[in-house]
Amino acid sequence: MMGKHIQNSSVQELKGIGEKTAKLLEKLHISTVDDLLHLFPRDYDRMEEVTKINQLIAEQRMIIKAQVIKNPIEKKAGRLTITNILVADDTGMLGLTFFNMPYIKNTLKKGSEYYFRGKVLQKGTSLFMEQPMMLVKAEYEKVRGKLLPIYPLTHGLTQNILRKAQKQALSEIEFDEYLPKEIIMECGLLSYQDSMNGIHFPSSEKMLIEARNRLVFDEFLKFLLQVRHLKNTTKSIPNDFPMIEVAQAKRFVEMLPFKLTTDQQNAWHDILEDMTGAYAMNRLIQGDVGSGKTVLAALALITCAGNGYQGALMAPTEVLAVQHYHTFVEYARKYDIRITPVLLTGSMKVKERREAYEKIENGEANVIIGTHALIQEKLCYHNLALVITDEQHRFGVRQRESFASKNDKKPHVMVMSATPIPRTLAMILYGDLHISLIKELPADRLPIKNCVVGKNYRETSYRFLEKEILAGRQAFVICPMIEKSEESDLENVEEYTEKLKSIFPSSIQIASLHGKMKPQEKNRIMDLFTMGEIDILVSTTVIEVGVNVPNATVMMVENAERFGLAGLHQIRGRVGRGKYQSYCIFIDSANTEKSQKRLNILNQSNDGFYIAEQDLKLRGPGDLFGIRQSGEMQFQLADIYQDSELLIKADRICERLLKNETFETDEKYAKMRKNIGISDGNIFDFPSI
Ligand code: ADP
Ligand code: MG
Repeated sequence: MMGKHIQNSSVQELKGIGEKTAKLLEKLHISTVDDLLHLFPRDYDRMEEVTKINQLIAEQRMIIKAQVIKNPIEKKAGRLTITNILVADDTGMLGLTFFNMPYIKNTLKKGSEYYFRGKVLQKGTSLFMEQPMMLVKAEYEKVRGKLLPIYPLTHGLTQNILRKAQKQALSEIEFDEYLPKEIIMECGLLSYQDSMNGIHFPSSEKMLIEARNRLVFDEFLKFLLQVRHLKNTTKSIPNDFPMIEVAQAKRFVEMLPFKLTTDQQNAWHDILEDMTGAYAMNRLIQGDVGSGKTVLAALALITCAGNGYQGALMAPTEVLAVQHYHTFVEYARKYDIRITPVLLTGSMKVKERREAYEKIENGEANVIIGTHALIQEKLCYHNLALVITDEQHRFGVRQRESFASKNDKKPHVMVMSATPIPRTLAMILYGDLHISLIKELPADRLPIKNCVVGKNYRETSYRFLEKEILAGRQAFVICPMIEKSEESDLENVEEYTEKLKSIFPSSIQIASLHGKMKPQEKNRIMDLFTMGEIDILVSTTVIEVGVNVPNATVMMVENAERFGLAGLHQIRGRVGRGKYQSYCIFIDSANTEKSQKRLNILNQSNDGFYIAEQDLKLRGPGDLFGIRQSGEMQFQLADIYQDSELLIKADRICERLLKNETFETDEKYAKMRKNIGISDGNIFDFPSI
């Protein structure tokens, strides 16, 4: 018995985890036993009841109990050994095929009985299974009806290794309960220990839901306590960087090729009032995708620079940061705006970075655009008066570092988000911010035309893509996976790109983009796409945030049934950003009544708020995993839409705790404060969330 001290020990303390597995786990950012236990399943495998052979349904994963009725037949096809086996129960027969498993013929002798589990495949009128999982009766009885965790893997790891390791870790550890008893009782929560057991190895659906609820509640409470703590210390800070309206900003508005929408004008008015007013700006600009938030950032930054200060714009991805940088360079050139933009990202070469640092430190650069690299310890700003974060909801809960902590003066803070959430939730999540809403889209936009279709519509889609490309437009194709995996038959970017290359004429340029590519490579591809050198970009959802290529008019999404509707709405927002008619093709590979009903909501509406709400109504508690709305706020488990009730509960508790004068001192709360990271006076200092 190792006891609870192993929580912070290396995973190698666990039986069955040697150096090799530890290395693989490192790729998933796991080094301690505690890290391992916080690798939550991404889904669960439900071991089905036995189906009779004459009841099998094609394309579904099912389990049969059957006897081998003929000795196996082995064939060679090149380097492949194919073993065909015929099995039967009292209702019918089924063929099974195994590849490169020659030894199987010794196990599956005529007369032997097994449970076979696999996806039912169909060829012509006959059904069969390939590589089914085999279980003997005792093995099946052990897992029957249970929920087995499915963990995110990396090449070389297996579910079995992880399941064993998690099981062992759980049996060795006693978790500290850090929430006070009253809160647990009042909110009807499981203990931390039970919820950790339950999330990994739930004994039932009900148990899983309760375990998840507890952990989601924790995530929310932690988040809110941190944010509110900040709020209490930063209420109405005096304006240390007073500004006046500058002629350059007015001229910029006049020279833009379009007129600002009324909502944009109102938001700009709010921003200007803040920056010229008595208190520092602390404002959220909430506007649906394509509503034109970037020009507001530009106006604020131009004003800031015109007043002799520095301003910064931080984006969650490098692709987006680079795009913003180009936009600002272009603004400066085209409209003769006197700003000096500089780019700072994590992937820049040492020399480039040094140059950027220098320009920032000596004040030569006054519009600083970048990723997290903007909040590096070593970087000193010259006179930072304004901090803007774009796609705020994309920044992790854990990634709130200090922007300007060395500076005594607090810069103006503006955050932009496309998260479609109802106002009540926005008030909880962004309670310390003033909110400007941009609801209307620019008037020149033609509504995007949508269709939800099955896989058999692919050919037609490709012809449509070709037609648009020949007319000078560009297209995106989204796949849920990056590469082929044994575990899933979802479409993946790598194979799909090759497939399209073989289908389309070679004059059509096709490239791929995904999160595992090097940042420079991603930038290069994105640049080529922006310049129109690439016609079709096959990508994962990395393009979901912010990317703006107005010439792209077709968005085709494979396995659309696998995405949350709010996420799909964001993806759809990548087209319809210019004057051309745009189209969205959602390929629904499940093609069930339920999936069609869900996806059709996207047909009914272009309103992100409405879409998120309707999606929730359609999904039951059993749909907890598998589909997440989108990476909102980057909570590990929580989903602000699905778990809005828990969010409201956590909000109530949070308010009460902070009002309670003994919260800071009472022994009872000590563990909780420590867990939440606000015990040691080390209050985080990022300008709001
Ligand atoms: P988002 O709010 O999603 O960040 P962007 O700021 O990227 O949207 O704007 C999308 C596109 O719309 C850009 O090409 C931008 O130049 C353009 N745009 C912004 N405001 C207007 C407007 N009032 N009228 C027409 N086009 C606009
Ligand atoms: Mg944007």
